[in-house]
Amino acid sequence: MNYVMIGVRKNKDSDRMLKKKITYSQEFLKKYEQYFCCLNCQEKMSFKEPQSLVCVNGHRYDLSKKGTIHFPNHHMISDYDQEMLTHRRAMILAGLYQPVLDVLKEKVAFSDYESIVEMGCGEGSFLNQLILETEFKGFTSGFDLSKDGVQMASDYNAQAFWFLGDVTQVPMEDAKLDLILNMLSPVSYEEVKRVLKPTGQIIKIIPESDYLKELRMLFFKDEPEKLTYSNEHTDLKFKENLTLISEERVTYKIKVTPENYEHILKMSPLHWGASQEARLYAQQHPFSELTIDLKILIGQK
Ligand SMILES: [Zn+2]
Repeated sequence: MNYVMIGVRKNKDSDRMLKKKITYSQEFLKKYEQYFCCLNCQEKMSFKEPQSLVCVNGHRYDLSKKGTIHFPNHHMISDYDQEMLTHRRAMILAGLYQPVLDVLKEKVAFSDYESIVEMGCGEGSFLNQLILETEFKGFTSGFDLSKDGVQMASDYNAQAFWFLGDVTQVPMEDAKLDLILNMLSPVSYEEVKRVLKPTGQIIKIIPESDYLKELRMLFFKDEPEKLTYSNEHTDLKFKENLTLISEERVTYKIKVTPENYEHILKMSPLHWGASQEARLYAQQHPFSELTIDLKILIGQK
């Protein structure tokens, strides 16, 4: 098993602050308006100065000050709040998923992709790192149904366009995308197949049985039914809906330090599933290494 060192990473995109977030999004939408379609009537959209996507029937979606758009017209619920996402971001920036990024980087770097979209992007750091490390220059966008997540992702407007969106109703035209990323998050295969180009692919990252096992053992020590995890259902659903191109298991450990232990405790949904007692127990019984065990599925329609 690989052992991955993680640490503080220099912020490579400080020059981005010179420009307003909304300016990046205006430029992006001007250039890429043809990728979007209206959620109300499925018609084409175009960018109208200063800051709206408007369809031929006059349905209108405005940019917020942070340069994001709230697409769905229905209420959405996400449990991913700012606190959890902040801990998660700290760990991703410290290299939590670096070996996974390395696999993806190779794929993106040697491709002729014109478009990459992350469905369920959370706070955006994963996609942002992929874009920075590959210097990908095409259409790049990430969306999530967590308002806090999208607001945080807007810190990375220089690299991608971020919006509030629902994976079951994607505001994008048919057959436009080369690559869809979907990490530890649900997806609608119907929508994936609709928006992918005929040659397009999806990379879906799902947990394997040992993912965060040390955390699970502390949080669920008194609930044995929650101790084990199987990805069988998710794995099968992927293979039923798509043609499998490849699958790869990536397993490694990261070092747990007193500095990153709180981030680790609070970065995942496991935290909510644990009882108050178990959370306290976990705080008092830090472990020294954490297992990351993931499967990278690549499929085509
Ligand atoms: Zn419309």
